[in-house]
Amino acid sequence: AIPKTAPALPPPPPEDVKKASFVAVERPIEMQTARLALPVVAEEQHIMEAINANDCVVICGETGSGKTTQVPQFLYEAGYGSPNTSTPGLIGVTQPRRVAAVSMASRVGEELGHGGKEKVSYQIRFEGTAGPNTAIKFMTDGILLRELSEDFLLRKYSAVIIDEAHERSINTDILIGVMSRVLKLRRELAEKDETKPLKLIIMSATLRVSDFTENQRLFPIAPPLLKVEARQHPVSIHFSRRTFSEYPEEVYKKVCKIHRRLPPGGILVFLTGQNEITHLLKRLRKAFPFKDERQGSNSTSAPPSMSAEDVESPLHVLPLYSLLPTKEQLRVFGGVPEGSRMCVLATNVAETSLTIPGIRYVVDCGRSKERNHDKTTGVQSFDIGWVSKASAAQRAGRSGRTGPGHCYRLYSSAVYERDFPEFAKPEILRMPIEGLVLQMKSMNIDTITNFPFPTAPDRLGLQKSERLLEYLGALDPKGALTELGRIMNFFPLSPRFSKILIIGQQHECLPYIIAIVAALSVGDVFILEHQLDIHGEAGDEDAPRNAGIAFEDTQRAKRRKEYYRAHRAFSSLDLTSDVLKLLSVVCAYEYEKDSTEFCESNFLRLKAMQETHKLRQQISKIVKINCPGVLNFFNPKLPPPSTVQVKALKQIIAAGFIDQVAIRADLLPNSPYKPSHNSAKRVTEVPYMTLFASATFQQDEDALLGPAVYIHPSSILASQSSHPEYLVYSELKKSASSTGKVRMKLLTPVTGVHLASLAKGTPLITYS
Ligand code: ADP
Ligand code: MG
Repeated sequence: AIPKTAPALPPPPPEDVKKASFVAVERPIEMQTARLALPVVAEEQHIMEAINANDCVVICGETGSGKTTQVPQFLYEAGYGSPNTSTPGLIGVTQPRRVAAVSMASRVGEELGHGGKEKVSYQIRFEGTAGPNTAIKFMTDGILLRELSEDFLLRKYSAVIIDEAHERSINTDILIGVMSRVLKLRRELAEKDETKPLKLIIMSATLRVSDFTENQRLFPIAPPLLKVEARQHPVSIHFSRRTFSEYPEEVYKKVCKIHRRLPPGGILVFLTGQNEITHLLKRLRKAFPFKDERQGSNSTSAPPSMSAEDVESPLHVLPLYSLLPTKEQLRVFGGVPEGSRMCVLATNVAETSLTIPGIRYVVDCGRSKERNHDKTTGVQSFDIGWVSKASAAQRAGRSGRTGPGHCYRLYSSAVYERDFPEFAKPEILRMPIEGLVLQMKSMNIDTITNFPFPTAPDRLGLQKSERLLEYLGALDPKGALTELGRIMNFFPLSPRFSKILIIGQQHECLPYIIAIVAALSVGDVFILEHQLDIHGEAGDEDAPRNAGIAFEDTQRAKRRKEYYRAHRAFSSLDLTSDVLKLLSVVCAYEYEKDSTEFCESNFLRLKAMQETHKLRQQISKIVKINCPGVLNFFNPKLPPPSTVQVKALKQIIAAGFIDQVAIRADLLPNSPYKPSHNSAKRVTEVPYMTLFASATFQQDEDALLGPAVYIHPSSILASQSSHPEYLVYSELKKSASSTGKVRMKLLTPVTGVHLASLAKGTPLITYS
């Protein structure tokens, strides 16, 4: 049901009207034409009237109807964000995804024509382009949340647009809750003439917004809901007769078929992750190469194949996923080379955040990878599961933007009806929330249970978060923010990492600790062994095609050898700690002249390394400002830590993870656990028990028979013959394979003596 429209606020005082000016914009002609075709532009007057009359407005419109690119411009033209108007404050636009914040800022800047680039900026965790002339600022929702803990009234802004609200990211949900209070405060202050009122516009690609509009604790008067009718062309949906579990193979076949048989038009493929995408990308580029690539392959020893393939038109295949460097991501907007067909292989980034022009065919595997988090055990898993019916509809809709389209679903209609949930679960129900709780406490939101969440998080999860924060010293036993907690919140890090930073000041370890928490926060620094790719872009040219499996096998063996060599080189600092290995990588990176080459030859992710560098810089700056005298400057080039420092570092890390200790289960008295031999990996797997499991064991002896946890194959300890009695882990991951074994990642051993001293709550570093 659509809620009743809120009664209009009293008209603004006449003086305001006089001052309100309209900012003239001269758009490039082709952009002006394109924008006039967007459904949202036809609604401009409606939308602006509603915004003038209400502090909060909700806009729903199909993906591609022009919400993200146009609504900020409506506000801009109405005087928001410009000096000498009654609404000089910035127009803020939040996005759940960084890709979208960057690409939308660049698009809107172009659309505003001459000088537009200066008017529109973006800010994401590590980069920002804001300047003195900024009027519209795109940012991730996390950035605005941080700004709120600095200035709860958001005095810098005259309007805030929360985009993609239907995605229900944790940050978006919290933002909407917090903003409902900010609006009220700004309205009260405006009545006393102290600030201007703030406008809030919530935008959604679906009509499912009742969690916001009908939640009386959030908005006592329902905000008006404006619907933008999209001009969607008909889309024919083709279900498969069978549901394939080997869907990447089916995707490949389907794309080939479309490209060979169907009329021109771009293809958009939805897959679940980077691995699937890069794999398929190579196969497709090989199957439908560009002309020069074909010549390249003919000059090798491979037999020239003058089959039908040579007359086929090339396929311009592009990847799109969140770990891809920003510049690469933007290539999907770059058009297609003459005579080829565009084919984008994407994760659900392409579902609603970005509208790729010219798509006529959608191939949908029906699945997505979702990060889940077990509230009781803390185990994280990436599970591939069916998307919701709502997502499947969004995906299909991408093909009907420019004309009638086709969507090929690689699952049967029976499976769709039976197994697909109607809607996806909001992220707040799936993710750890201690960082959020800390942030909310620093915004003086003390009783979190009373907060007007659009969907309230699970009570157990909230309790656990508060307990962890109390344990870390960020909250006092009454749940109030401590001084330590206040400092912890300065850092854009999860509370645990902030805590490690704060205890990491001993023995001049801080610069190393900063490097470590930066790398841990960024995550995914290493390319994992199973992601090793034997058709490197460069290798492709001289690799003989069709040379058979034997060749690929030797290639693979060679790559694997290089891989182990690189990993061994980083282990020289300390043979037992993954976290210290990470430190070696971060340090080595700074000494290299050619970072691209360094990452390539050492199987590291360049983007992650660049982000780690930036985060180190950012953390150092915050330390410098907030903890005077501790750190004078940021020097990215660190000398190797001394032996004493290595010991100290291990203990600091252990102190930060004291609630994530694992104990060798096979060494416990009368243990039923035995090391087992993993023949595939040719290693012996040693069972461990987590503190959580051992605590349960103390209460209930049978609990010992619960599942053990194991060392993750990516760990330095996995290939070693002796295994420490105690270790701390930074993550627990459930294996996606059928065994479902839970594995610990990023390990550091601890000794019993240290554990005992740490357990007493004295993270004092000893040097025995
Ligand atoms: P919505 O937010 O309602 O989903 P958008 O404002 O994102 O819609 O998109 C409106 C139109 O602008 C779409 O047709 C899209 O293809 C086009 N567009 C957006 N960004 C770019 C870009 N960087 N290059 C070309 N076209 C773009
Ligand atoms: Mg949008």
